[in-house]
Amino acid sequence: MSGASGDLPTRLFSLAPIAVGTAAGESLLSYLVRLARAHSMSPRQLIRTEILPLADLGGGPACGRFYADQARTMAGVGKYACAFVHALQALTGRDGLAHLTMLPWAGVVPAVGFGLVAERAQWCPECLVSQRQAREDSHFLLAWSLDCYQACPRHRRRLASACPWCGRAQHAVPDYPDQHRCTQCRGYLGSELVHQGADEVPTERQLLRAMLIENMLDYATDAETWATHANLCRRLSALADAWTEGGKRALSLRLGFTKTSVSTWVAKKQRPVFPQLLQLCDATGLSVRELLGECGGKQPPIMPVLASVAIKRREAASAIAQHNTEAELGLLMAGTDSPPSAAAAAAKVGVTVSQLRYRHRATMAKLSEKHRAHRHAQSNRRWSERVRTVQVVALGIAADGQRPSIRRVTERLRHLRLSLQNPRLRAAYRRVRSEIADQ
Ligand SMILES: [Zn+2]
Ligand SMILES: [Zn+2]
Repeated sequence: MSGASGDLPTRLFSLAPIAVGTAAGESLLSYLVRLARAHSMSPRQLIRTEILPLADLGGGPACGRFYADQARTMAGVGKYACAFVHALQALTGRDGLAHLTMLPWAGVVPAVGFGLVAERAQWCPECLVSQRQAREDSHFLLAWSLDCYQACPRHRRRLASACPWCGRAQHAVPDYPDQHRCTQCRGYLGSELVHQGADEVPTERQLLRAMLIENMLDYATDAETWATHANLCRRLSALADAWTEGGKRALSLRLGFTKTSVSTWVAKKQRPVFPQLLQLCDATGLSVRELLGECGGKQPPIMPVLASVAIKRREAASAIAQHNTEAELGLLMAGTDSPPSAAAAAAKVGVTVSQLRYRHRATMAKLSEKHRAHRHAQSNRRWSERVRTVQVVALGIAADGQRPSIRRVTERLRHLRLSLQNPRLRAAYRRVRSEIADQ
């Protein structure tokens, strides 16, 4: 567990991390922002003046690229995570800050690989509201920085990644030390989105995935001891023995990977990327803790779902299931109103997305295309509604005999939770204003 590691005075406050080592634990970046706030500094200033001089980053990162992109990998298992953990531990005298990153799982997740850290900052608006109501320091969870964590199980909603006021994505490192504020317009990120609709409802699969990750994060404190490549290899070999008479290729395919995946991990000592690790859990019905734990000691791995009878039954059922799935997909495609996403289709027919893509490639390609086109049309419709709102508001002000100035329009749009900071709405505003001026 983390704690102040000595009585010597430290350069920065020895701030305690929030809920460290649990699913609700904050991220390292979140800790850094709160630390900056405690010192009345901007987070970027803290990084520039205190952390980078201590961090061993081979000459230091180019600042622009670092703030725009690399800083998000502070939550991962790579060099920025290591460097920032060490620097912050030295500055605050705290140990255990690695638990605010994915470093405890570095044994089974590669430092360079896709699918671990999300490309954009994301958050659950309702969790932010809860933090505010509970008068907690504003903070972002480590789970939110993961690409595969897309829904909040507590509030059963998808995470947001665009500001509800200006619609823009967030900078990786804020320059204002309050994570409840938009890094672009400083609007409150805990506000509900204007057009709350189907977009916020998570699929069952997203919720299950999020719960799998939460369960994993709950075991962070001793993960270094059991989340090892050796344990993963042992489990894969045991699975091959139980399922496919030792055949690694057949096991690979059965788990929904390409035929060489498993042998690459076992023989070439490579680690699966994070989404593949989660897929392993899906395919075996085990949690990450169960998949990797209890392998190292004297006890043989326990495999509750691997009884050979169950496998034979499953093989017989799979041919029928595949036929039924194809038929169900056909029905989903035929429905005219809203074709589901691959994830939603997978949740409906009760298999994983990768299984669907593997076994029903052509149908899934068609479905995805339909889904994309539908989403596109939906988004266009929503934007034209917002543009119309701006026109109505500006014309309304003009009808009252006032000049539809930016200030007045912004004021009224604020109540509708729209903002002229958005380029499309701004253009619409300019158009309607010049029309009014022409009259
Ligand atoms: Zn939430
Ligand atoms: Zn904003």
